[in-house]
Amino acid sequence: MNSATGAALKNIPSVDSLLQFEAVARLESHHPRAFVVRACREILEGLRKEIQTGSTSKVRSPADLALEVVRHVEGRSAFPGRVLNATGIVLHTNLGRARLAPEAVEAMRLAAGACDLELDLETGKRTSRERRLEASFRRIFGVDAAHAVNNNAGALVLCVNELAQGKEVIVSRGELVEIGGSFRLPDVLARAGAILVEVGTTNRTTVDDYARAINPRTAALLRVHRSNFRQDGFVHEPPIAELAGLARDRGTPLIHDLGSGSWIPLTATRFEPSLSESLDAKVDLLTLSGDKLLGGPQAGIVLGRTDLVERTRRNPLSRALRLDKCTIAALAATLDLLEDAGWARSRIPTLRQLAVTPSELSARATRMAEALSGVSSLRVRIAIASSEVGGGAAPGEAMETSCVALKHETLSAEDLAREFRRTPVPLVGRIVQSEVFLDPRTLEAHEDDECVRMLVERFGRPGG
Ligand SMILES: *Cc1c(COP(=O)(O)O)cnc(C)c1O
Repeated sequence: MNSATGAALKNIPSVDSLLQFEAVARLESHHPRAFVVRACREILEGLRKEIQTGSTSKVRSPADLALEVVRHVEGRSAFPGRVLNATGIVLHTNLGRARLAPEAVEAMRLAAGACDLELDLETGKRTSRERRLEASFRRIFGVDAAHAVNNNAGALVLCVNELAQGKEVIVSRGELVEIGGSFRLPDVLARAGAILVEVGTTNRTTVDDYARAINPRTAALLRVHRSNFRQDGFVHEPPIAELAGLARDRGTPLIHDLGSGSWIPLTATRFEPSLSESLDAKVDLLTLSGDKLLGGPQAGIVLGRTDLVERTRRNPLSRALRLDKCTIAALAATLDLLEDAGWARSRIPTLRQLAVTPSELSARATRMAEALSGVSSLRVRIAIASSEVGGGAAPGEAMETSCVALKHETLSAEDLAREFRRTPVPLVGRIVQSEVFLDPRTLEAHEDDECVRMLVERFGRPGG
């Protein structure tokens, strides 16, 4: 340890001295004292480590540290906390996937208190928490029946378990995928109690491959969308209508796990399996996520034949996977918006962000870059780049965007990105070689200024 490090360690203030700062003392009227004291210790411990490892050169005064304590304590009450998504990935699983529409947020707020979740106000009797959702699914998607559970993985387990426990499910070898977050199709089927029968090859599976594998033990055919990668070249899979035709002829139900399920037509998602195509093909059971291209809360949606949907509803797993009142509220509000395509594209953030034009993004990036041009420690330029749909939807589909590309005079891109994540509202960008890119596509327009303000505040001051 050199003497400068030793001196810096000796200069670390005490917990008691931080507690003397008025802003810190004030915290104790809203937070338990133990919280505040722990926050002081954690901040000081973090500082000690940074000094010891030489990972900080910045001198922080006791007043700066007190401010960090305040942020730490106030930030703690909100988890997950708000961040600014400037990654350009619209459905970013680590950042909470779909951003909810204001209508959905308001519906959740109202449902948070006492609500008529399972009470029929006319009769005063108990009723189904899904009654309103089901009606919306029928009206909007034109389906006979619908059932919503916790997430799409759950919806698929439920369908397979109900139809195929102890029996065979036929799947193409090209669809034995891992979706991410340890969702591996063969494992999921095994846990649902089904016996996997693989047909076809990795790149080509025909409808005859399925036909030949059907036998008296077969309980279902399963089509799974290969969400997060794309196959090109010498490939074949039967169109969903052809597979549904085979399923009907042989009296074997077809389950289609769509994953995202695009409903509102958008250029960015034109190659995603569309919900209408599967509905038109009269697939027996369809499953999709609530928080991907529908742009709603996390949920798993089962659509299809009334008798089969009813069976999944009565399966005991449905009780284990049931939706909470806030999710039901948000999903119902999102469905209302989806009834009108134009309205959905303007009100649902996921769809709005996917539909925003390159020229609008260019104008927003330019405005941000201009506002940052006076910050001497940052080198700013505009970079033409591509945004992604994310959430395992439309892999490889590049959407043109304009990013604010930033480089710091001394910090590496990794360190600069970390500094961005330390702003009062953490700003999450993406590192491209030696720069950090901020993509306006995934920010709401009113957040552009907020990013700029925080960066000017953080880097624009002398010594910043
Ligand atoms: C995303 C996805 C899932 C998992 O959905 P969750 O709602 O995250 O549980 C399952 N299958 C496919 C095809 C997917 O794309």
